[in-house]
Amino acid sequence: MATPLSVNAFVKALKAEGLTVVEVGDWRTHNRNSKGPWGPVHGVMIHHTVTKGSAHTVDICRKGYSGLPGPLCHGVITKDGTVHLVGYGRANHAGSGDDDALRAVIGERALPVDNEANTDGNRYFYGFECENLGDGKDPWPAAQLLAIEKVAAAICREHGWNERSTIGHLEWQPGKVDPRGFTMASMRARIAKRLGAEPSGRTGPSGGTTYTVKKGDTLWSIARAHGTTVPALVDTNGLEDPGRLDVGQKLKLSGGTVSTYTVARGDTLWSIAASKLGDGNRWREIAALNKLADADAITSGQKLKLPKK
Ligand SMILES: [Zn+2]
Repeated sequence: MATPLSVNAFVKALKAEGLTVVEVGDWRTHNRNSKGPWGPVHGVMIHHTVTKGSAHTVDICRKGYSGLPGPLCHGVITKDGTVHLVGYGRANHAGSGDDDALRAVIGERALPVDNEANTDGNRYFYGFECENLGDGKDPWPAAQLLAIEKVAAAICREHGWNERSTIGHLEWQPGKVDPRGFTMASMRARIAKRLGAEPSGRTGPSGGTTYTVKKGDTLWSIARAHGTTVPALVDTNGLEDPGRLDVGQKLKLSGGTVSTYTVARGDTLWSIAASKLGDGNRWREIAALNKLADADAITSGQKLKLPKK
C-alpha cells in the first residue's frame, strides 16, 4: 500500500532497472483521473493485448477504443522488450476484481481463486499491457519476458514490495485469461530472484529492509526505532506528504548500500556521516545498516556499508 510514485520517480525506477523506455506523447498527464481516484497503489498488474504489431498495439493502448477510452495501461511492453509509456494516473486496465485477491496482494500472501468482481482495480494497480495475441500460440520472446520481470521488479523495489505484489489480470477478474503463454507463478519467481539481486542499472547492492506501518506510528517514531532519520525516510520512500502514513504501508528503512568505507584512525560514525553523507546526524543510518550494537566501537580498517547520500 502506498502513494503512487511521482511520474519522475516512476520513469527513473524503470530506467534504473536497465529497461529501454519510450515516452509516448503526453503520457505524463494522460489518464482517467477525472473518473475516479488513482491510489493508494498495492501492486503491478500484467496483461496481454490480443493485438499484433507494436505500433498498432501502442496506439490502441494509448487511445483506447469505442466503449473503453484510453489509456488502457501505464506501459506497453512490446515483443522486443521496449516499454512504451502511454499514461500515468488512473488507467482502464484492471476493471472490477475480487476484494479477496486485493487483500492477498496487500498482505503479500498466496492469491485465492478470483470469483468476485466487486472492487475497482483501476484505482489500486499499476498496469502493463504486453503485445501478444493471447491465443496460447503466439510466442513470448525472451526479451519481452525479461522486460516484464524488470518492470515489476523495478516498481516493487521502489515501493519495498515483494514479488507477491505482482498479479496477472486473470488472477484479479473472473473470466479473464491474460496473460496467457507463461504462468504468473513462474514470473513471480523471476521477480523474486531479481529483487534479491542488484538492479542492473545501479551500482551497489540494493539492500535495505522494509517496515510495515502500524497503528499509532509516526515517521519520527519509526525513524527513532530503526536508527534512521525522518528526512532519510521521506527521501528513500519518495513520500510526498510525510504527515500521512497509512497502516499497512511499507517503508524502506534505508536506500540501500551504495558504497563501502574503510574506517581510518580517528574516525567516528558522526565524522564519517558528515564527510560521506553530508550530515553527521545520519550516523544512526550507518549504525543500523551495519547492525552495530555499539556505535563507538568502530576500529580503523573496519569496512562499513554506507547508505545512499
Ligand atoms: Zn487484461
